[in-house]
Amino acid sequence: MNPRIIEILNQARSAELGAISQYMIHHYELEDAGFSKLATKIKEVAIAEMKHAEKLAERILLLKGEATFKPDLIPQKGQDIAQILATDVGLEKKAIQMYNEAAVMCAAEKDAQSKDLFEELIAEEEEHLHLFENFKRHIDKMGAAYLATLIQK
Ligand code: FE
Ligand code: FE
Repeated sequence: MNPRIIEILNQARSAELGAISQYMIHHYELEDAGFSKLATKIKEVAIAEMKHAEKLAERILLLKGEATFKPDLIPQKGQDIAQILATDVGLEKKAIQMYNEAAVMCAAEKDAQSKDLFEELIAEEEEHLHLFENFKRHIDKMGAAYLATLIQK
């Protein structure tokens, strides 16, 4: 067992657990406010992050480590849509940077499987970032007219 690898896998797992609770709160709040289309998209991303947290735990257990259950953040509540998207863009950027550094570290520690896992996660986080940035850009540009399109599913 390489404790540095376990630590970085757990750091990533904590980030995933934090993102899951944040995205779920955003999903519930947006659904409640009637923004079903945006709510559904954020829910889909939350579910993707759950799968990431699972994959990280499976890798940690395979390496004989112990998987953390501690999120790395306290989720924000009561944000408006602009704040929600800024928060979520920030979480994806944080994950992409962390996982890129983790992949380099795993390569240096000669753990190709963990490196591959991080690269697989980076590809999906980049898609999430793209999705959130598109919503954010449209809202910044078009404001209320675009918000109206986010009401239906
Ligand atoms: Fe993730
Ligand atoms: Fe993500």
